[in-house]
Amino acid sequence: MEHLQCLIIGAGPAGFTAAIYAARANLNPVMYVGSQPGGQLTITRDVENYPGFPDGVLGPEMMELFEKQAKRFNADIRNGIVTDVDFSSHPHEITIDNIKNISADSIIIATGASAKWLGLPSETRLNGSGVSACAVCDGFFYRGQDVAIVGAGDTACEEALYLSKLCNHVHMLIRRDEMRASKIMQKRVINTPNITVHWHAEAEEVIGEQIVTGVRVKDNLNEETYVLAVQGFFVAIGHHPNAKVFSQYLDTDDQGYIITQPDSTKTNIPGVFACGDVQDKHFRQAVTAAGSGCMAALEAERFLTTVEAHVSSAD
Ligand code: NDP
Repeated sequence: MEHLQCLIIGAGPAGFTAAIYAARANLNPVMYVGSQPGGQLTITRDVENYPGFPDGVLGPEMMELFEKQAKRFNADIRNGIVTDVDFSSHPHEITIDNIKNISADSIIIATGASAKWLGLPSETRLNGSGVSACAVCDGFFYRGQDVAIVGAGDTACEEALYLSKLCNHVHMLIRRDEMRASKIMQKRVINTPNITVHWHAEAEEVIGEQIVTGVRVKDNLNEETYVLAVQGFFVAIGHHPNAKVFSQYLDTDDQGYIITQPDSTKTNIPGVFACGDVQDKHFRQAVTAAGSGCMAALEAERFLTTVEAHVSSAD
């Protein structure tokens, strides 16, 4: 069985940053990129809020740069999905694509989270052309325009308020007659003059050929439909962390996010670290993910030093 010093699972900003730091620390990291190499940034357009790119950069291009930088230091980047893990003893065992078993002294989990989507064909077709799941990333492109946002949780409220500062008008589409969000967020949304809350409202179709021009909405009380002219369509109905394969061993919260120790990427299993969106439901930014990837690599390095000291003192 192949044995690794440092295994990195996931290839978004957190994973690649961990790879750069681990490679430069001579940990010979091996990264398995998973089912979405490059992570969520590969499905966004321009990234204008990542420091160091004064003119902005396309999400996929930025991830190519991350990869190039990791390869420069000989990080071993491989295709493959982690299909099973056994963290019951050290070194930990991992199965790739149901066939290949490897063991690793340290593991950095950077598998991210995935936005939930409504599942409308028009939503998929216009993704990146007016449809977005991140107001903080893409709201800027709709300055002075009208937008719609689906969802009624804290994220939807936060994003609606964020958009209200940039956009001419924000239509919030809520499928029930109440919001799930905290009362204070609800109050802020209701009291914002350029946000209109549409109750019992379900998005039926995002309208537009090349770019979004509107949304057809169904009132689920009377089954009537109406069209809102909007240039941006935001979906904020939650995320799901990609942590299921680890959940037998790692502590997770009620939504499945991996729990890490305060100010640390350490999980409840020694030698297993988690960084990026798989353990962060609050910030979810490329730059915060990259920061926590750096933390994970530094913590893995320290962990490996103590393991080596332990092994050599036992010899
Ligand atoms: P939530 O799960 O809390 O809310 C999801 C919302 O999306 C619900 O209102 C739900 O409607 C709606 N929804 C789900 N599916 C659909 C659908 N198919 N069509 C229409 N609407 C749909 O997710 P959030 O991302 O908002 O929040 C996740 C967690 O993070 C929460 O615990 C939240 O409190 C927390 N958070 C905290 C923040 C803060 O403290 N500042 C900021 C952001 C998040 P319904 O209610 O009808 O089910």
